[in-house]
Amino acid sequence: MNLNDLPIQQVKGIGEESGKLLGGLGIKSVQDLLEYFPFRYEDYSLQSPVEAKHEERVTFAGVVQNEPSVRYYGKKKNKLTFRIVSSDVLLTVTFFNRAFLKSKLVIGTEVTITGKWDANRLSLTGSELKFGLVEREGDVEPVYHSSGKLSSKQIQKWIAGAVAEFAGDITEPLPESIRTRYKLMGKAETIRHLHQPLKPELVKQARRRFVYEELLFFQLKMRAFKEANREQQHGTRLRIPEGAVNEFLQRLPFTLTNAQSKAIQTVLADIQSTHRMNRLLQGDVGSGKTAVAAACMYGVVKAGAQSALMAPTEILAEQHAQSLSAWFEPLGLTVALLAGSVKGKKRRELLERIVSGEVDIVVGTHALIQDDVHFNTLGLVITDEQHRFGVEQRRVLRDKGESPDVLFMTATPIPRTLAISVFGDMDVSVLDELPAGRKPIETYWVQHDMLERVLDFIRKEIEQGRQAYVICPLIEESEKLDVQNAIDFHAMLSGHFQGNAQVGLMHGRLSPGEKDDVMNAFANNDLQILVSTTVVEVGVNVPNATVMLIYDADRFGLAQLHQLRGRVGRGEAQSTCILMAQPKSEVGKERMRIMTETTDGFLLSERDLELRGPGDFFGSKQSGLPNFKLADVVHDYRTLETARQDADTIISTGLLQTDREYRYLAMYLAQVGAFSGEKID
Ligand code: ADP
Ligand code: MG
Repeated sequence: MNLNDLPIQQVKGIGEESGKLLGGLGIKSVQDLLEYFPFRYEDYSLQSPVEAKHEERVTFAGVVQNEPSVRYYGKKKNKLTFRIVSSDVLLTVTFFNRAFLKSKLVIGTEVTITGKWDANRLSLTGSELKFGLVEREGDVEPVYHSSGKLSSKQIQKWIAGAVAEFAGDITEPLPESIRTRYKLMGKAETIRHLHQPLKPELVKQARRRFVYEELLFFQLKMRAFKEANREQQHGTRLRIPEGAVNEFLQRLPFTLTNAQSKAIQTVLADIQSTHRMNRLLQGDVGSGKTAVAAACMYGVVKAGAQSALMAPTEILAEQHAQSLSAWFEPLGLTVALLAGSVKGKKRRELLERIVSGEVDIVVGTHALIQDDVHFNTLGLVITDEQHRFGVEQRRVLRDKGESPDVLFMTATPIPRTLAISVFGDMDVSVLDELPAGRKPIETYWVQHDMLERVLDFIRKEIEQGRQAYVICPLIEESEKLDVQNAIDFHAMLSGHFQGNAQVGLMHGRLSPGEKDDVMNAFANNDLQILVSTTVVEVGVNVPNATVMLIYDADRFGLAQLHQLRGRVGRGEAQSTCILMAQPKSEVGKERMRIMTETTDGFLLSERDLELRGPGDFFGSKQSGLPNFKLADVVHDYRTLETARQDADTIISTGLLQTDREYRYLAMYLAQVGAFSGEKID
């Protein structure tokens, strides 16, 4: 029986009305109900106040010592207080709005009480009370996410009914060999233990089994989609003339790192193969992604096609356009900038030159992917800092031209395992090496009262001919937030450095033209200090800047701090990052500490995930991380990795087609449209 096709009303006690309520929770079939798992478990095992932990939910058994007192307050509110002795400890019990219990709680009565324990004050705020010494050893109850009209208890009842009736019909999708390898319990047993926990250990085992299954399915799906993507052929295939890319590389003022060379080779091979490239290039700030992008674009142009480079901001687009022009124009290539600021006749002319093929390389913001932009032969699309682009924009871009190859570049150091789960349908290249000769940025965490000394330090750096960024969380003063703002701080610093340094101001409310002027002035060292909001966070490259002062640094996440810090340390000189912050929370302090301890973006992103959870790191909601019933990509990342390797083996060895054990997995993949191989029954 396929429990996925069986409507929920088949479960005893669920009619039209309750079916609708469950539908609201996304539960439509019997299988949905069986796989609607508790989000936590209540443990009713008896504990002793001697060992119980402060602030935990506990269950104590004891004997009433005094006549309870009741205090009434507000409208119909009351507070009942009495004492019990449990394991020789005298403690106070409080219940709210249970005055009716008073008459039953005579001295000497035995009670079992569940509630929240305050170990410092020896007091228990009760939520449940049972008369007698109710020994509930190993008693664990599931708690379900419920909605207005549905209680967790009601859901529990229906699920118990469904388990009793349908557990025997649950199919085992995992091959025996896999279950033996990882010592995984059977599917029916798994479902039962998750809903009707007997022992915490069994719940753990059941969870482990389900998480593996869930992640394996997910990885198989990803792997299958990736395969499908691979099979998508190009209409035309690019041939890059022998040695063409080397011509370009030889003109660079530096030698590539090994990681850069390897990435370029991989991308060029992708470009020349018949499948369409869908690749993520991950490289920490300063790892030299631009040179990789340029080499690949050059190769594509030499093969007779156009390239497009898309950046998240005008500043960045302009900077890319400038450096690419400097590299490419002496080699006879035409580079154009298509940004929001290019309007009217100029824009029409430019579009004309793009569609005619006169322009070889187009750099732009998202303006690049507007409908009226047509290319002649678009061979390669590169997006820089792609996490700024929505999935939808990525797709539109990919659909431009004759299925161009696509390279997504990002400095967001997504831990490898997560990258696989987020971008599982992409190939991944990593620049895990910084250009030689870079000195690691020194990072200090200081309090606000150190400002005077910090400014002295900045003055000395400027005397050495260096420049400094100063980042503030806000543009202007806010009533709500007591944090530094760029406008005031700019005014302050302008006064402080009068006669010694020019101080510029940059923030998101400036027009694109104004921003460019400020940025260019800083790049030319006409400004020695740039006070800014986080608009300079991404990509901006001024190698002469050696100081990054981040005011109220606790207002930023680790990922953002790391991006900001990456604006310095781009030249030969020693660079310094100063975090000025007095965080109140432990997590906040921990973040500052981690920043001073490592410059490894991957390590930072992993720590950030631990401290904040994936939603925060990637921007909540937009995280793009898939939702699972039980699995958690951060917590279960080892399993995620195991599942990925297993999925790889299963697909590449053709087990879905050849081994009967795998027929349920093949069926599942066929259902989601990810497998079209011949099935065996
Ligand atoms: P990101 O990966 O952060 O985009 P960039 O491409 O902006 O890094 O490169 C940072 C700086 O390092 C630039 O000034 C660039 O010219 C320089 N650079 C890139 N590759 C190398 C290399 N192999 N050796 C020395 N400097 C390099
Ligand atoms: Mg960059």
